[in-house]
Amino acid sequence: MLAVLHRIIQEVSQADDLEQALAIIVKRVKETMKVDVCSAYLSNEAQQRHILMATDGLNPKAVGSAGLAFGEGLVSLVAERAETVNCESAPDHPRFRFLPGTNEQAFHAFMGAPIIHHRKVLGILVVQQRAQRKFEEEESAFLLTVAAQLAGAIAHAEVSGGIARLVTDICDGVSLAGLPGSAGVGIGTGLVVYPPADLDAVPDRQVEDTEAEVEVFREAVALAQADIRALQARLSTALSDEDQALFDAYLQMLGSSTMIDQVIKRIRAGSWASGAVRATINEHVQLFKSMDDPYLRERAEDVKDLGRRILSCLQKGRHKPPPYPEQTILVGEEITATMLAEAPIERLVGVISAKGSTSSHVAILSRALGIPAVVGVQDLPVARLEGQALITDGYNGRVYVAPSPHVRSEYERLAREEDQMTAELAELRDLPAETPDGYRIPLYANTGLLSDITPSLLSGAEGIGLYRTEFPFMVRDRFPSEDEQFRIYSQVIESFAPRPVVMRTMDVGGDKSLPYFPIKEDNPFLGWRGIRITLDHPELFLVQVRAMLRAAEGNDRVRILLPMISSIDELDEALGLVKQGYEELREEGGHVVEPQVGAMIEVPSLIYQIDAVARRVHFVSVGSNDLTQYLLAVDRNNANVAELYDSLNPAVIMAIRQVVEGAARHGCEVSVCGEMAGDPCAVLILMALGVDSLSMSASSLLRIKWVLRQMERARAKELLEEVLKMETAGEIRRYLGDALIEAGLGGLVRAGNK
Ligand code: PEP
Ligand code: MG
Repeated sequence: MLAVLHRIIQEVSQADDLEQALAIIVKRVKETMKVDVCSAYLSNEAQQRHILMATDGLNPKAVGSAGLAFGEGLVSLVAERAETVNCESAPDHPRFRFLPGTNEQAFHAFMGAPIIHHRKVLGILVVQQRAQRKFEEEESAFLLTVAAQLAGAIAHAEVSGGIARLVTDICDGVSLAGLPGSAGVGIGTGLVVYPPADLDAVPDRQVEDTEAEVEVFREAVALAQADIRALQARLSTALSDEDQALFDAYLQMLGSSTMIDQVIKRIRAGSWASGAVRATINEHVQLFKSMDDPYLRERAEDVKDLGRRILSCLQKGRHKPPPYPEQTILVGEEITATMLAEAPIERLVGVISAKGSTSSHVAILSRALGIPAVVGVQDLPVARLEGQALITDGYNGRVYVAPSPHVRSEYERLAREEDQMTAELAELRDLPAETPDGYRIPLYANTGLLSDITPSLLSGAEGIGLYRTEFPFMVRDRFPSEDEQFRIYSQVIESFAPRPVVMRTMDVGGDKSLPYFPIKEDNPFLGWRGIRITLDHPELFLVQVRAMLRAAEGNDRVRILLPMISSIDELDEALGLVKQGYEELREEGGHVVEPQVGAMIEVPSLIYQIDAVARRVHFVSVGSNDLTQYLLAVDRNNANVAELYDSLNPAVIMAIRQVVEGAARHGCEVSVCGEMAGDPCAVLILMALGVDSLSMSASSLLRIKWVLRQMERARAKELLEEVLKMETAGEIRRYLGDALIEAGLGGLVRAGNK
C-alpha cells in the first residue's frame, strides 16, 4: 500500500495542473481499491457548493458543473463531520441526495473521506460501488491516508498558473499562509528568481518563437556533451573503468532521442527550454525511482545530475536577468541577499520566500529596505508564480495569488492608508516617547547590517537596543578578524554617537548558520546555539569581545549583551571571559572602559533564576521571540504551528512580569528587544509592567511612539489588571485591540500586528 501511495503522490506532484492532478488521483484510487467509481469534489466557499472536479466511473460530462450545495447529500456530511462516512447503501441513507447528470443511481456502497489542509476542508474524495457493502476498515484507512497526503498537493496545485483561472471560477482567489517577514502591503506581479543550475527552482515560462528555443536547447545539449567529453578525457587516467562508464552513460542519455524528443515536444508546446528540461528530467527521475531494481533506482540521481548540467549550459548561453515588471514581487524557494541586491529597488514592491523566518536574512534585509515580505510560505508553488498577480501582506504573513477584484481593492485601500499613516507618523520623529501622564520609555532600534543603520537613524531611535553581530558574520566567507570586527563595530557606534549601543555577542545556531561554520543537528533550536557555541570556542568569543571593547574605547555608551543564557554557570563563564578580554586590553595599554554586561532572557529557566541573574548583570533584555518559542514549545519559524505562536499568551506575560519584579529587587534594568516590543497591543502591557526600554525594528518605531504618546500609563495599568485575569492569547489580543481602537489608534490594529 505504501508503495502505491508513494507512486500516486509522485505522479500528482508532477501534474501540470489541478485538473490533471485530480484525474490521476481518481484513476489510481479506483484501480487500487478495485471500486466502480472514484470522484473528487472541491469545496467552493464562494458558491457554497461541493463541485465534482474529477471522476472515474461517473459521467465525465458532469465534471465542473455537477455539485451539491453545502449541507446537501452525503458528500456534505463528510465535509461537515470532517471525517470518513462509510455507507452500505447510499440511496437508503436519510442524507442521500442524487447528483443529477452523473448516472450515480447505479451505485450503492459509498465511502467519502475529507481532504483537509490546515484544518480546512478543501474537498471530498469519494469511492462508490454497485453492490451493497460496507467498505473494510483497511480500505477506509487507505482512502483517508490518500486524502490526507494529497491535501498538500491539492493546496499546492490550487495556486498554479493554469489553475488560477479554474480556481477563480470556483473560489475567490487563493491565499497562502507564511510568516510576516517585513510589514507592509505589496501589490504586483511575480518574478521567480532561483539559484543557477537548480533544476527544481526553474519556473514555468512561455516562449513565442518555439523553433528558436529548440535551437537554444540543442546548443545547450551540444555544450553539455562537449563538457562531459572534456571531463572524461581529463580524468581518464585517474578513474577506474567503472567510473568512466558513468560518463559514457551520460553521453548515451544525452544522445537518446527519448529524452531529447520529449524536451523538444514540450518546447514546441510553448515552454521555454529550461522549463521543458525540468519537466522531462523530473519525469525520468520519477521513472527510475519507481523501479524495483535498486541499481536502476540509484540512476535517478545521475539523470538529475545530467539535467543540472544541461540547465547550467542553457544558463551559460544566455544568462541575462529577466525583465523586472514595473511592480515586481520577487518570489523564490530561498531568496538570498544577493538576489535582493540584484533587483532594481525602485521596482521592488514585495518579497515572497518559501524558506526563511521572521529573523532570517531575507526578512531582516527586506525590513531594512522597507519592502513588504512574507517568508516561510510552506506551500508556495514557486515555479508557477511567474507573471501571476500577487499580493504580499507583510503584516499578517499572507500571500494572495490571482486575487479577486474585491481582495485587490481592499488591499489597495489598506496600502493607501498605510502610506498616509507613515507620512503622518514622521512628524513624531523628534518628539519624546512619553505617555500623556508623563511616563518616559526610551525606544531603541534593532539592527544587524550596515544597511539598517540609515532607516534606524531616520526612525528617531534613541540608540541601538540590539545589534545582532551575527549578521555581519553571515555575509562573509570566514570569521571576521579582530580588526575587521573592530571596524564594523566602530562604524555602528559612531553612526549613533552620542546615543547608546547594545552589542550582542554572536548568536549563531538555531536557524542562523554561517556558511563556513556548518552545524548539522536534529534539533537545532535546542542544540548548539548562541552562548553555548561561543563558550565552547573562547578563541572566537574573546576576539569578538576585544573588538567590541576597542570600538567602545573612551566611552561608556556601549554595552555587551549575552544571548541564549540558560544557566548561571554559563553566565558566570561568559562574564569571566568578558573580564579577561577587558584585562588583556588594559595590560596592552588600551584605554578601554569596563563594559556594562547584560543577559538575554530567552530561555524559561532564567525566569525562575532571575534573582541570581540580576545580582550578576547590569541589565537584562527579554528576547521575546525565543522566550515565546521555548515557553510555548512552538518553533518560531514553522508555519505549521504559527497559529499557536503568540507573545500575548498569558504564560509569556506572566513570565515577563516575574522578570520585571525580580530584576527590580536588584536595581537591574529590563529591556524587551524581541518582536513583541514592536507590537502595539503588547506594548500596552510592557509599559504597564514597568519595562525600562524597548528595542524594535526601525519600521515599527514610530508606530510604537504613537501608542505611547496617546495612551496614559494609568490606563495601561487598568488594562493589565484585566488582562491578568484572562486565560487565552486570543482573548487578550482582542481586548487590547479594542482598547487601541477606543483610543483612536485603530489604524494599528487593522493592519494586523501579531
Ligand atoms: C529574541 O529571541 O527575541 C531576540 C531578540 O533574538 P533573535 O531574534 O535574534 O533570536
Ligand atoms: Mg533570540
